[in-house]
Amino acid sequence: MDLIPSFSVDHTKIVPGIFESRVDDIAGNKITTYDVRVTRPNIEPCVDVSAMHSLEHIIATFLRNDPDWKDEVIYWGPMGCLTGFYLILKGNRAPKEIVDLLIRAFDSVKDSEEVPGVEPENCGNCCMHNLVYAKWYAAKFADYLKSNKDNDAIYTYPKTERLATEDGRQFFDS
Ligand SMILES: [Zn+2]
Repeated sequence: MDLIPSFSVDHTKIVPGIFESRVDDIAGNKITTYDVRVTRPNIEPCVDVSAMHSLEHIIATFLRNDPDWKDEVIYWGPMGCLTGFYLILKGNRAPKEIVDLLIRAFDSVKDSEEVPGVEPENCGNCCMHNLVYAKWYAAKFADYLKSNKDNDAIYTYPKTERLATEDGRQFFDS
């Protein structure tokens, strides 16, 4: 089985930021997947799962309603490892070109009075939400992006020559 490209990233050296994960060409149109990494994998605690779920709902709603970006957004969703989100956009912008969008998206959480789409008809686990925690993580990440906007390290993944961890294991989670 081939290891997919994102596993060639050395996850022990990732800092929070916005990273190009992959670029696909679909019928001549470029589609870019970004890793929006909120916490340092394996170094600091991952995002609380209920906060992650609420951030998924609030930010997806923000992105799909933003007049300048809504037509560019294909997907926003959480990483299974709970350290960040996947964002899929039409086109192939550099991560730095979407930092202001993400600052606005995470800043929008602090003004949220409720999590959208939490009725049982709209959500697969409507009890698993936490707006207070979501606000805490969102404020922390928005502040981080603002103070590191001009730091190229938050846009560049540390690559590894090896496709396995130090002790020879391969990993199947991003
Ligand atoms: Zn849900």
